[in-house]
Amino acid sequence: MAERQIRVRFAPSPTGYLHVGGARTALFNWLLARRRGGVFVLRIEDTDRERSSEVMTRAILDGMEWLGLSWDEGPFHQADGVERHRRDALRLLEAGHAYRCFCTPAELESKRARAAGAQEAYRYDRNCLLRVSPEEAERRAAAGQPFALRCHVPEGVSAWEDVVHGRIEFANAEIEDFIVLRSDGTPVYNLAVVSDDLDMRITHVLRGDDHISNTPKQILLYRALGQEPPVFGHVPMILGPDGKRLSKRHGATAIGEYREQGLLPWALVNFLALLGWSPGTDEEIFDVPELIARFSLEGINKKSAIFDSQKLIWLNGQHLTRASAERLEPLVTERLVAAGIANADALRTRRAWVHGLIDLLKVRARNLDDIVRQARPYLAEAIDYEQEAVQKHWKHPAQVRQRLAALRQRYAGLERWDEQTLEAELRAVADELGTAAGKLIHPLRVSLTGMAVSPGIFEVLVTMGRELALRRLDAALAALERREREAPSSPDTVVPGAPPAA
Ligand code: GLU
Repeated sequence: MAERQIRVRFAPSPTGYLHVGGARTALFNWLLARRRGGVFVLRIEDTDRERSSEVMTRAILDGMEWLGLSWDEGPFHQADGVERHRRDALRLLEAGHAYRCFCTPAELESKRARAAGAQEAYRYDRNCLLRVSPEEAERRAAAGQPFALRCHVPEGVSAWEDVVHGRIEFANAEIEDFIVLRSDGTPVYNLAVVSDDLDMRITHVLRGDDHISNTPKQILLYRALGQEPPVFGHVPMILGPDGKRLSKRHGATAIGEYREQGLLPWALVNFLALLGWSPGTDEEIFDVPELIARFSLEGINKKSAIFDSQKLIWLNGQHLTRASAERLEPLVTERLVAAGIANADALRTRRAWVHGLIDLLKVRARNLDDIVRQARPYLAEAIDYEQEAVQKHWKHPAQVRQRLAALRQRYAGLERWDEQTLEAELRAVADELGTAAGKLIHPLRVSLTGMAVSPGIFEVLVTMGRELALRRLDAALAALERREREAPSSPDTVVPGAPPAA
């Protein structure tokens, strides 16, 4: 018989941004669906009206889109299913798996307080099951007395074969007759989830370990509704390096923050996949198609995962180096435009050049912001000179200016503007000035990029192009002249033989 199609879902509550744990849950479900030709459903669990917001829903969708976790069905809104949730609660009542509870909040509160006083665990005492006959319950309901519906938990155990943890078992005696429909007619969370998962024909529920305690109740509801529960898998929690549950104290936890920081979405996907799943080898760098090809439920770990931000930075650098310029182009362009360094149309007309620039810079970058920072000298009209670079390589402005002026003149007269010609010419000028090539290269780098570190200087010159490179050199010569004037007593301007300054 053909295996039935896998249907999974991601069911975030829009009470906060998409965070690392949620994104990891979404990813595992998505990978399973993609691996097994299944369907990935997105359901927004917004029944808690007060805590849910449109803004958060939007942020969750944006985060998923950015990560590339495309959904096949939805987004559905749990709040739209309230009528069905109610109908399912009433089916439980009709089938005798639920009963009406007329206990008032005040009564329940005093029972709870009494249990607390006696240091006993509180559990509903089944007052309305044991002391209110079905006929009386009918009569009271018809007379308009408010009631909640409680699930009548049978004897026995609720157990399941968890795909991550193996068999998990709860004694039903430990589970109170929990409410499924409140007296104001609103369904409780566990009923809504089961009703929705049935309606959406979900076959596998992969979610965080924090939901384990909900699962026995949900299994009871499936059975009471005469249905088979789906396969459950509870994914281990994500911890910070200190072993405590990952939180803001450990740094960024919202996916949007990583986007802002200039991480590559597929690097973050790689990182998230390894939080609780292992490929069974030592390999760590996977692109999304590789993750899909390798993902399996058996590879999910039982042990909690540690969030290592250094590893994330490293992985991002690895992916950056490996990515083609073509793939990086839209991400880099977006940020160059946002930073006001370039305009999108101009970049589009020189795509081949942009690709060359990205290839030049990506190897020295750990994230997209590094690329943008390094790209500025090739695009912006003016640059700033980094203090440290200036102090190190423009220490003697008069001397440096004289050398660079000589080089500028020779470069301006060149017929060819390629690495070989530029290098030969620089070495010739250095020889003529009786100095080492480095004495020209380092100050030249500062002049062109404002930085002490850059790709090879001749690649820089070629990528920058003759016109801009010469303009940069002119600006540098002017800046050097200013420095000379500002520091007239610096040693390189002292006339030989003159008495030392007082
Ligand atoms: N809405 C729940 C949450 O955000 C998930 C429910 C589930 O996956 O069953 O934690």
